[in-house]
Amino acid sequence: MSTLEQDIRQAAALLADAKDVTLLGHVRPDADALGSALALARVLQQRGATVRVSFGAPDEVPETLQGLDVGGLLVRPAELPETEPLLVALDTPTLGRLGQLGARVAKVKAAGGEVLVVDHHSSNTFFGTHHVVDETAEATAVLVLRLIDALGAALDEPIARCLYAGLVTDTSGFRRATPSTHDMASRLLEAGVDPDRVVRQIVDDHPFAWLPMLATVLAGARLEPEAAQGFGLAHAVVRADVAATVRAEEVESVIDIVRSTRDAGVAVVLKDAGSGRLWQVSLRSAGKIDVSMAARALGGGGHRMAAGCTVEGSSDEALDLLRKALDEAPLI
Ligand code: MN
Repeated sequence: MSTLEQDIRQAAALLADAKDVTLLGHVRPDADALGSALALARVLQQRGATVRVSFGAPDEVPETLQGLDVGGLLVRPAELPETEPLLVALDTPTLGRLGQLGARVAKVKAAGGEVLVVDHHSSNTFFGTHHVVDETAEATAVLVLRLIDALGAALDEPIARCLYAGLVTDTSGFRRATPSTHDMASRLLEAGVDPDRVVRQIVDDHPFAWLPMLATVLAGARLEPEAAQGFGLAHAVVRADVAATVRAEEVESVIDIVRSTRDAGVAVVLKDAGSGRLWQVSLRSAGKIDVSMAARALGGGGHRMAAGCTVEGSSDEALDLLRKALDEAPLI
């Protein structure tokens, strides 16, 4: 039996006995973090456990993802109990990515509780007492389905929909897929998922204000053919006044457009996170440069093809730091 299979078995044994579980994902949850947490929470609830799902501040779950919480399992950090016998952290490589909820991990351990970490980031720091970590998994949702299978639990439509949301987004719409990705998708559709409806709700559902926002941001996009070790760098900046015209979902969509340009081996979008002096940065690779290492050099992390970090300074200073980190990043 592989180490991963052993880890899954041990984690399933832990979950099978659990009576009271808090499930967390990374701050600013995406569909994989939220879908993974809600799917596993629903399975545990159906087995009789008391469950709750929460995220650190800013704890607003994007509007487009709220439909995944069919059972009303989401609670604000302030509503969490003092501690819990079992804490599960999903899609979260480091304590820091739990935001203020990271402090619960030490608290649970000190009280003799268990902390299960389920994740697919190569940067995972193994901060729990039990770990199901596989960087070759396309999404954390893939690992959650393996846990559900190990528990012998059935997939209902809400569980399958949560897992599908994580799978379809973390593979960029099945662009990064293996035969097993499609096997999993097939099971989720069998369980009742309507793929068009899910993707429409979580990806293709923008207000009209999205278009003028894109027009402004993309008008300022630049291509630097020599940057990123000669593979080309395309970048765009979303300033606070422009971001204020739309939701976070629309701002997050910009990188998917910039990364589609043929001339760019790397795409970068800077999003104002503090009066033009602090930038949340999204990085995407077209397959030549490992952007997770560039992000990591700047205090962030992620995957080889998709990563993020936070950079201080003016947008020009932030871009300089990014150019340097990309020039020093390893090739894939
Ligand atoms: Mn993920």
